[in-house]
Formats: sequence, C-alpha cells, structure tokens
Amino acid sequence: MTPLAARLAALRQALPPATRLLAVSKGQPAAAIREAVAAGQRSFGESRLQEAVAKQAELVDLEPLDWHFIGRLQANKARGVLRAFTTIHGLDSLPLAQRLARIAAEERCSPVVFCQVKLRPDPAKTGFDPQELREHWSALRQLEPLRLQGLMTIAPLGLSTAAQRQLFADCAALAADLGVPELSMGMSADWREAAAAGSTWVRIGSALFGPRPGS
Ligand SMILES: *Cc1c(COP(=O)(O)O)cnc(C)c1O
Repeated sequence: MTPLAARLAALRQALPPATRLLAVSKGQPAAAIREAVAAGQRSFGESRLQEAVAKQAELVDLEPLDWHFIGRLQANKARGVLRAFTTIHGLDSLPLAQRLARIAAEERCSPVVFCQVKLRPDPAKTGFDPQELREHWSALRQLEPLRLQGLMTIAPLGLSTAAQRQLFADCAALAADLGVPELSMGMSADWREAAAAGSTWVRIGSALFGPRPGS
C-alpha cells in the first residue's frame, strides 16, 4: 500500500458513515490524483478552473471522476466551471446564482450547488451572511436547473476546538432550518469536529496528499 493509499484508508475508517471524503487535489499533480483513484477515491476538489481542466485532460483514460469546484467562483468562469464540474461548493451571491442558473440551462446541466455561508467575521473569506441567506433563500431555491442541496462553510483560522464545534453546529442548524440535507464543512485541520457535527462532505487536501508543492 502506498502512503497515500494508507492515509485514504485511515481517513475513510475514521469518518462516520454519512460523511463523504472530497480529496482536495488543488496544487497537486495529476499523478497524485491517479494514485488516489487507484486506491478507490472518486471525488476530487479543485479551486482553479484552468488547473483542473489541464489535469482532467491528463486523466481522460480513467473511469469518469466526480469533480467538485471549491474555489471562489468568478462570473466570467461560470460556463467553464459548469462544463468541468458536477458540484459547486462556493456559491456566495444571488446575482452569481442567477447567472449560473441561466448558463446551466444553456449548457443543459443541473449542477449540485452549495451556498457558502459566513457564520463568523472573516476578512479572508467570502460567503452569505446567515440573515442575507434567509432573505434570498426562496429566490435561490427557485433557480432551476440548479440543485441547491446544501451549505458550505470554512472555519476562520485560529479558532479553539470548542469554537470550531460551535461554528459547525450553527451551520448544521441553519441547513436543517432551511431544509437542505448536505453540509460541506471540515478541512485537514478541523474535519473531526465537522464530521462530529454532521458534515456530509469533508474537503481534505494536505492531510491526504501532503503539503501542496510550491506552497
Ligand atoms: C484548499 C481548500 C481545502 C483543503 O485544505 P487543506 O487544509 O489542505 O485540507 C478545503 N476547502 C477549500 C475551500 C479549500 O480552498
């Protein structure tokens, strides 16, 4: 077993049954993805469109993989993202959602989307304020052909474990209140707390692949 396969197996074993693993392969070469696929991983997260498309081209000989976009979605990249990804984790505004829905209809695809929510002040991160999300929710839900299935959040750096737990519990409560089943929360540093709070997708990069080359 390769070290990557061993880390994958250990993570899978540690995750509760309802929590799926998104292997965040941004910054990693296609060869690392190939190795993860050989070890049974199918779902990968990328945050830059161009980088993802280049790696997808290198991996066309593999069975179809499940690609999730986890980066900041720029309006002018929406069409490219819709062509390259099945799932979008970071929808952060109503105008962007409206644009995405219009282009998805043109492209005849119905992506799964997660609204990103910012539950604590964090200048480094984007996302709906919870109140704003509630206000826009009925408009967002009606945006066919998008399949709005969940919320996504990123914990600010430097929170205590207890504060991380509270943040993830708040996100789970908001999703339950809004009636969406999926929760994209938890990264290398905090996936345990997120999984314990009911995350359905943990997004794990460095704890799986090791440090990103060049970072
Ligand atoms: C990079 C990234 C991750 C993975 O980060 P790690 O700390 O390497 O696990 C998860 N989610 C998002 C949105 C990211 O940009």
